[in-house]
Amino acid sequence: MKLLQDRIRQDGQVLTETVLKVDTFLNHQVDPMLTMEIGKAFAQKAESAGVTKVLTIEASGIHFAMATAFTLGVPFLYAKKKKAVTLTEDLYTTEVFSFTRQESFQVSVSKRYLNAEDRVLIVDDFLATGDALLGLVEIVRQAGATLVGVGAVVEKSFQDGRAKLEAAGVEIHSLARIRSMSPETGVTFIEETLTENEEALV
Ligand code: 5GP
Repeated sequence: MKLLQDRIRQDGQVLTETVLKVDTFLNHQVDPMLTMEIGKAFAQKAESAGVTKVLTIEASGIHFAMATAFTLGVPFLYAKKKKAVTLTEDLYTTEVFSFTRQESFQVSVSKRYLNAEDRVLIVDDFLATGDALLGLVEIVRQAGATLVGVGAVVEKSFQDGRAKLEAAGVEIHSLARIRSMSPETGVTFIEETLTENEEALV
């Protein structure tokens, strides 16, 4: 998505070779116009898949799920992060390791809002190690629902998240795929450096 790539180049801050700060427009201060375009892009990709619910994880996936669900005309649902879950019988629950916080936490979704009839599109802000998204995939599995696919706003393709999701049989659609980045040279996207051979495979 060119609009997003241009914005990452312009306003993203590469803190280290693995961490990109985007909190002027994506996940602290939020650009609502860009967010709606992101939602439209995810919705367009899934428009014929019969999605009944969009699922994300709090907090930084919520506005993307909202924009996607609004475009599709379906509800969205966000998994809640909890330190200790006592009432497990009414919840789908799984453990997720946070790349940014370097600690594990539990995420839960109420059984009232997800069931075997649902066709679920998962979205989130980043695909890095894939743990957050795999946690959501596990919740969809626990519900017996059908997973239509996963949408990531920014994919750091040099980390192993995509490989893990693909190994789990999940279809992934990322709007900006970062091949590499560094504080000195900035961000390189996958599309920009495709050879003719690679392009023929896309
Ligand atoms: P994963 O589980 O795929 O490793 O990472 C999931 C979460 O970590 C994302 O939802 C995102 O909130 C956060 N995250 C991972 N990498 C980055 C990054 O480079 N920048 C920011 N701002 N957040 C990140």
